[in-house]
Amino acid sequence: MYEKIRIFLCENFGFLDLKLSFRIELRSRKLQKSTMTFDIAAIGAGLAGLTSAAQLQQAGYNVVVVEKSRGLGGRVATRRIPNHRADFGARYLEANGRLVSLLLEILRDRQIVQLWTEASHRWDGNLIPDPPRPHYVPPNGMNEIGKFLGRGTRVWFSRRACQLTPQADNTWHLSLEAVADGSDAPLELTAKAVILAVPAPQALEILADTPGLPEEFRNNLAEVEYNPCITAIAKYPNDRPLPDWVSVNFPPETDLSWVGLDSSKRPNTQQPVFVVHSSADFARSHLNTTNLEAPGRELLDRASNYLLPWLSEPEFLQVHRWRYAFTSQPWRRDCLAATTPLPLVCCGDWCGTRQIETALRSGLAAASITNSQLQQEVLSPIRQVWQSL
Ligand SMILES: Cc1cc2nc3c(=O)[nH]c(=O)nc-3n(C[C@H](O)[C@H](O)[C@H](O)COP(=O)(O)OP(=O)(O)OC[C@H]3O[C@@H](n4cnc5c(N)ncnc54)[C@H](O)[C@@H]3O)c2cc1C
Repeated sequence: MYEKIRIFLCENFGFLDLKLSFRIELRSRKLQKSTMTFDIAAIGAGLAGLTSAAQLQQAGYNVVVVEKSRGLGGRVATRRIPNHRADFGARYLEANGRLVSLLLEILRDRQIVQLWTEASHRWDGNLIPDPPRPHYVPPNGMNEIGKFLGRGTRVWFSRRACQLTPQADNTWHLSLEAVADGSDAPLELTAKAVILAVPAPQALEILADTPGLPEEFRNNLAEVEYNPCITAIAKYPNDRPLPDWVSVNFPPETDLSWVGLDSSKRPNTQQPVFVVHSSADFARSHLNTTNLEAPGRELLDRASNYLLPWLSEPEFLQVHRWRYAFTSQPWRRDCLAATTPLPLVCCGDWCGTRQIETALRSGLAAASITNSQLQQEVLSPIRQVWQSL
């Protein structure tokens, strides 16, 4: 923020800049060096972290969310590409669980989410239509869901949580690493309670040197496993004839898991944009590949063999690797609380098998346990919390 003010002043009032920018710089550095104290620090601004933070904040706790990336929503992610935006993580919402259904109801009321399609297909040597099922998306991108859930929550972006240490005054000390320039958030904080709302392997990294953690707790985290996924975002010239399908699921032997016509989610889009997700085995064979363009092109070749010949010739291609895409070996309870003297709870979609529904449920479970270890405030029902955002 201070950097933006400095640039604005520099561009508009050049003569003021020197003195002021020095003072702003000084304040920004002071802020980064100071240690702020919170009731609760939630690590990870995915759906689990944002849900727990919103509920605890509404109960009156002083909460901060620490997020290593620049945006809200975690794997419910949208990326800007030239003249378009593409959902390169979670594909859509379906009303297939109590919490997703509730969230959908509120997001539809707010006109953040709309019906995308009822028609999905699967590949089984031919394109087979699935029984009709409503798929919902925000036309502005799936990350609108994270933006909604994060309303009113204090989030420190571009800060990776590195190490968690208990202190003598019965608070946690959390050291943070700056991931990108442009954020003046501090590099450490203290909190009475910590919620780690990140994939289990990433929680283990943060807890690697935390003293006093029971071995069993680390073992439970270590048993959780994820499948990776490689995602290609491909854009094509606008004279290409559009197919009569928008969403196709594939069996793993094809190297693909899903192909979607992403541009059909957006209003007034001219150019076809497709998102192609790989199978877990395909992604696993490229866990150490540094240049992802070749695997991205391989995925488009596969899609072109099965669906449309011109899919192998994009005019624009971006490829992303999700190291922790889908839980393959979950923890079978709603969250994982440590029996440390200080409150520490881990949560996320790895606490079950229902992806977004599990992430939401796990975030709520983490909020409830954290509250029971702190002031035991009355937590509002999540419907009320979301409706107030
Ligand atoms: C390709 C793909 C397609 C999918 N499609 C669907 C779908 O159609 N339907 C569905 O229900 N689900 C789908 N999912 C799964 C769904 O996206 C996840 O289950 C859900 O979003 C997980 O939420 P979460 O909050 O548990 O974790 P995440 O969304 O992973 O949130 C964790 C957050 O923590 C941050 N973080 C990690 N480590 C640190 C650290 N050290 N310091 C600070 N921040 C950190 C991350 O940047 C991230 O923002 C899909 C996922 C992928 C990858």
